[in-house]
Amino acid sequence: MGEDNNKSKVNWIKERESVANTARSVHHSGLVSGKSGNVSLRINDNGKTNLMAITPSRQSLSCLTAEQIPVVDFDMNPVEGQCIPSSESLMHVAIYKSRIDVGAVIHTHSLFSTVASITGDKIPAIVDEMVVTIGGPIYVADYGFPGSQDLADNICTSLGNRNAALLRNHGAVGVGTDLEQALEISVFTERLTKIFVYSKMLGKINGIPKESVAAEEAIFEMMNQREIYSEG
Ligand SMILES: [Zn+2]
Repeated sequence: MGEDNNKSKVNWIKERESVANTARSVHHSGLVSGKSGNVSLRINDNGKTNLMAITPSRQSLSCLTAEQIPVVDFDMNPVEGQCIPSSESLMHVAIYKSRIDVGAVIHTHSLFSTVASITGDKIPAIVDEMVVTIGGPIYVADYGFPGSQDLADNICTSLGNRNAALLRNHGAVGVGTDLEQALEISVFTERLTKIFVYSKMLGKINGIPKESVAAEEAIFEMMNQREIYSEG
């Protein structure tokens, strides 16, 4: 039993290191400033998937090490590490519970995503790769106090089966099967919201034709099912 625990800890160091590395990438991509933003990874603990490694509270993502990444269960009980988990942990847990296909979550206060979140209006399908990559329009979660269960519930509603959503008056969330995809989605979401904000400044927004959106949503569904199947 003790040996098994030791083996798990070795594995988790690798996963905690991946979270720290991704957190640094999030910072270097310009998606966060100061001590904002958080990154987590679902840990598959011998078939149980009720653990996550998550960036610590009130620390810059720019220079984290594996040892600074705590592991907690989905009831927020500490499992590994000394640091206090992110204050947005409830949001990460809620997403993992509602989406079995999600293996990693990134939350940022990136500039254009925050700007676009203020109105509360969804970002319609404005470029083709948006639908294939994110799954459709980007919806804005109703306002919730930072760190609250309300915020966690609202983000799950706005995320649906898609890979990104905005949090009203707050920022963005990107998810993926792994950290690499969650980072890619987060960078792409910021680029999309920038395109949207600039387009609005020019005037009328022309979305993609409905038939194209439907075809691209079908491709997204197909790709997602394949990923869930291959995980199993
Ligand atoms: Zn936040």
